[in-house]
Amino acid sequence: MPSSSKINLTDTYDSVLIGSGPINIIEAAYLKSLGKSVLIIEERDHPAGAWTTIKHPNIPEVEIGCHIWDVDKETYDFLAKFFGLNLVPLNPRPRIYKRKIRFPYDWKQNAIGAKQIMKRMGKFQFGALKQDFRTPVYRLSVKPSLYLYPENGAKDIKEAIQRTIDKFNIPILYKHQLDQLICEDDKAGVSLKLSDGKLIKTQECVLTSLSSIREFKINGKDIQFAYRTTDYVHMHLLLKDYRIKPFSYDRVMDSTLVHRVSDMTSQVKNEIPGNSVLICVGIFEAPYKSIPPVELENRVMTEIKRLKYISGDGTVLANGVNAFTAYYNQPNLHHQIQSDTKNSIRVLRSTNFTYGLSAQLNRWKSLVS
Ligand SMILES: Cc1cc2nc3c(=O)[nH]c(=O)nc-3n(C[C@H](O)[C@H](O)[C@H](O)COP(=O)(O)OP(=O)(O)OC[C@H]3O[C@@H](n4cnc5c(N)ncnc54)[C@H](O)[C@@H]3O)c2cc1C
Repeated sequence: MPSSSKINLTDTYDSVLIGSGPINIIEAAYLKSLGKSVLIIEERDHPAGAWTTIKHPNIPEVEIGCHIWDVDKETYDFLAKFFGLNLVPLNPRPRIYKRKIRFPYDWKQNAIGAKQIMKRMGKFQFGALKQDFRTPVYRLSVKPSLYLYPENGAKDIKEAIQRTIDKFNIPILYKHQLDQLICEDDKAGVSLKLSDGKLIKTQECVLTSLSSIREFKINGKDIQFAYRTTDYVHMHLLLKDYRIKPFSYDRVMDSTLVHRVSDMTSQVKNEIPGNSVLICVGIFEAPYKSIPPVELENRVMTEIKRLKYISGDGTVLANGVNAFTAYYNQPNLHHQIQSDTKNSIRVLRSTNFTYGLSAQLNRWKSLVS
């Protein structure tokens, strides 16, 4: 793989992709399989975006936060085949914790599906409704679904991403941030200005929903393409096993401090002492910023005891906190940007992993055939 220092920025690329999350990595592999020249620009010093890992003292390397992949068989099959992942069911099945009751996670999906049915039926849009339910975004499940996930969590995805980078020889310019995108004439392609002033020319630029762009100039017009920044804060807790009942991934609606709780023990079972568990807790950004760091462990432990994930005896063997900054740009402008630049700038939707992948599967199927 060419290292960042060997990349020649005077070359003109067929495609430059912003960010090295899984969606752009697969897209880059696909473009390379078509014989195109590609370059990825990544502001961090490593690939994989949100699917990276962290190593806290006295805790094994583990994924940075609580993750779940929404259900879609075709997407699961593609990921297993393309990345060579061993997917296993989350057991027990994921849940939503609301008003002290634990519901199957699918109920979130059922509520979204039911709302869409009402909306479409009210407008007599039966054809569109059929189309909606062909995507994994809308589905109704009577029984709780099987949610699949890589056996060792994001560690497996991170390694698979590195294998893909090596196999397809995808050049990545690390520690560089894209600041400005200029497209004056779609036939002349796109100019990209990096935060250190470097310029790159490309025939097309590919963004995802999580690419941050500070300035956007299309045919002399400034498009305000704001993005919001969210810090995803997670605490990993290595504890003696004081779980009250088994759980895998719970979305918590009954707390002002904690929004997700995941049991990651199975991902690290051979690396932690017997009779201990590794739990990951998603913490809201605002309380995280207001609670003094020395008090955080205590506050989180009190909360997960109150929510009855662990019993009152539970004591902490080690803990580690991380905050991962993600950028969300404006999905309502994706279509306009693509059409104003005649697709010289393409945006791949990626706010939800499964939905983002599933939207590209038709194009990417040659990668696994
Ligand atoms: C902590 C966390 C938990 C999540 N949990 C879930 C989940 O449970 N289920 C789910 O479906 N989705 C989840 N998501 C969203 C999910 O990660 C994305 O859908 C998925 O990663 C694919 O998006 P992506 O490839 O666009 O982005 P990412 O994986 O976020 O990667 C974007 C990359 O682009 C880089 N980048 C951005 N802007 C620039 C720029 N201007 N210049 C250079 N580099 C740039 C970033 O450094 C990053 O590496 C989560 C996201 C985070 C952050």
